[in-house]
Amino acid sequence: MEQVMEKIRGIEHQLYAYNYALAIIGIDAETAAPTDSAEGRGEAVSLLSCKQYELLTGDELGQLLEAAAALELDERAAAECRELRRMRERYTRIPAEEFAQDSRVFTLSQDAWHKAKEQSDFSIFAPWLEKGLEIRRRWAGYIDPAKDVYDVWLDFYQDGLCMASADPFFAALKEKILPLVRRIQTEGKPVRTDFLHQDWPLEDQRRLAEYVMEAMGLSPNHCTLSESEHPFTSGLYDGDVRITTHYDPQDMLSSLYSVIHEGGHALYERNVSPALRYTVLAEGSCSGVHESQSRLFENYIGRSREFLSWLWPELVRLFPKQLEGISCEELYRAANRAEPSLIRTEADELTYPLHIMVRYELEKQLMHGQLPVAELPAAWNRLYKEYLGVDVPDDAQGVLQDIHWSGGDFGYFPTYALGTAYAAQMVEQMKRSFDLGHCCAEGNLEPVRAYLREKIWQYGKMLEPAELIRRGCGGEFDPECFANYLERKYTEIYEL
Ligand SMILES: [Zn+2]
Repeated sequence: MEQVMEKIRGIEHQLYAYNYALAIIGIDAETAAPTDSAEGRGEAVSLLSCKQYELLTGDELGQLLEAAAALELDERAAAECRELRRMRERYTRIPAEEFAQDSRVFTLSQDAWHKAKEQSDFSIFAPWLEKGLEIRRRWAGYIDPAKDVYDVWLDFYQDGLCMASADPFFAALKEKILPLVRRIQTEGKPVRTDFLHQDWPLEDQRRLAEYVMEAMGLSPNHCTLSESEHPFTSGLYDGDVRITTHYDPQDMLSSLYSVIHEGGHALYERNVSPALRYTVLAEGSCSGVHESQSRLFENYIGRSREFLSWLWPELVRLFPKQLEGISCEELYRAANRAEPSLIRTEADELTYPLHIMVRYELEKQLMHGQLPVAELPAAWNRLYKEYLGVDVPDDAQGVLQDIHWSGGDFGYFPTYALGTAYAAQMVEQMKRSFDLGHCCAEGNLEPVRAYLREKIWQYGKMLEPAELIRRGCGGEFDPECFANYLERKYTEIYEL
């Protein structure tokens, strides 16, 4: 066994190195690279992706995995082989030349999306979206021809996820949220938000970000923060995790909650057991589990009355003029205002799932070829009006706001809403073992980290997503937890 695993780990080590290089290129593309540099990057990405592809699909790994199947493996080795087999199965089905060409297409597609968004012109991006959809449909056919194309991609981002389980989840949530949003609009006691929209100097926003990262336990020695159009997290290994934010000079909360959200992702990556380093297990689990961690910090901690009461003195110190005459309770209500809006990443907890439902409906139709790309902006605007009651003024604030589809990530959005719902239950479970409110009020998040480290973080990909969710939630996932949490929170804030 020793010999076989040693060789397998040698391949994992090489995969790690390619991943590392690709991640650095990805980070650079979003944070520092000049605007017109996609072509050369596309070449490099395509070549490195091909090397990864060759390693994963090559005969050497095939023979080693076969040899390993006949051995008695320990839990970790078995999990490494399981992950490698899964990756290999997916990749071997995609022809090599298409793999190289398609990864180049997505680099150029992301570049087109950036330009389209900048000019708020969907027509720049439309042909690339068409190409991306065509590639993903084709790949779905390779990966599992017996399965629905959209189900293939749902399952890709979260093992076991499919329309049959996502449809009822969203339907039930919609039934709960829509009436609550209407009630808030008609009977809710108004929440004061005028003070949010003023000048918040960027250097003070940067200081606030540092302060919050420190409280989260993210030392700059292992986790740095930079700026990008779309905030994201990229973990190179457990000792080097990068996060980004986007500062809005007119809205301090926007970056604050991006930093806490990405900080949640970063903590997960930082706390994967170092024993798993350089193996395919050394990263956070699927996106639903990952989002549960980021949303847990962003919403259930960051937007709590207790956490904001801890943060309040620092906020007043940094922004004395902006917060003059404002109370912490007013900030709490403003940070939790339920207000149908245009931008997903800035949406409140209550209306956020509606943003996801719009994307879920649309990508389902796009993948199934039921919605022509040319009609997407109009369909988007129609659903925003129907679900959120808002008029979309332009494509930049509408259909072009998210980067996901330009990189071929269809089927990813639902995991945001699911992750948020998992987090609701994890928080309830956490509260059974310690006083979460008290910890937040003290700015002491170590008990939260300890809980999540023990139940989820340390395992990386060693345990399957369903098992991690069970451990974090203390039992089977129950979507009701999330619906009840929203109802409790918002009836209290709006005094319904
Ligand atoms: Zn996230």
